[in-house]
Amino acid sequence: MPELPEMEAWRRQLNDPVSAFPIVKAGPGHIATLKTFDPPLSALEGRQLAGAERRAKRLLFPTDDGELVVLVHLMTAGRLKYLQFGEKGPKTPAFQLMFEGGSRLVLTEAGAKKRAGVWLLTPEEAEQELAHLGPEALGIGAERLKEICADESRRLHSMLRDQRVIAGIGRAWANEILHHAQLSPYELTRDVTPEQVERLAEAIDAELLRGLELRERGANDKRTYRVHNHLGEPCYVCGMSIARVDFEEHTIYYCPECQTGGRVLKDRRLSRLLR
Ligand SMILES: [Zn+2]
Repeated sequence: MPELPEMEAWRRQLNDPVSAFPIVKAGPGHIATLKTFDPPLSALEGRQLAGAERRAKRLLFPTDDGELVVLVHLMTAGRLKYLQFGEKGPKTPAFQLMFEGGSRLVLTEAGAKKRAGVWLLTPEEAEQELAHLGPEALGIGAERLKEICADESRRLHSMLRDQRVIAGIGRAWANEILHHAQLSPYELTRDVTPEQVERLAEAIDAELLRGLELRERGANDKRTYRVHNHLGEPCYVCGMSIARVDFEEHTIYYCPECQTGGRVLKDRRLSRLLR
């Protein structure tokens, strides 16, 4: 799933082109993709977008008259693309906006399951839709993070991925961040020291910015991630093999040498089955 660095790179790429010309045709939208029906998509026609904004893993396209917002959540497989006039696109996009002059913003989604969503909302409704999200991960800072860790006790990997607590990080960047901070994904928030929280806050910014920079240059997953999906490959810090553990519904990648004091984490799903 695209996370904060990926979404922010797309936002920067889309900001100018989507606001260059008025919308002449909004839709069609796949029935599973379009989540709202009032106002109808046609309400966008004749209006111009002010640009692209981002909140956590979602993109927002407000109209420049301040009346409507197109909110997009790509989930795992959704992709947004801006196509110039005449540029070949998908036959049946999940959602499409056509601009004056023939350029298009298209949303595609690989696979049979349509999980990506598009909402057409008023600014107030959009605010409500996003109200459950925690503060943006990038720039969260050690002080705020200390408060979050003190608030409830849970494992670091799960805390980082909880959008209500910190917004923008998913399992790929949680793996990268915890490795950078040299913290165990299973460490409990109540057990981390102030020094470790500071390391974690520093790692959040360093890794998300590293990701953003790479994504802006068009780097693929393999080049962007150093730990996530690198099972068995040497750790970039110590050279030991990256390990993997299944935890709840998530797969965690980590370095036993750098993060868990040499301990190999037990597969939680398997141990549950054996119990
Ligand atoms: Zn290592």
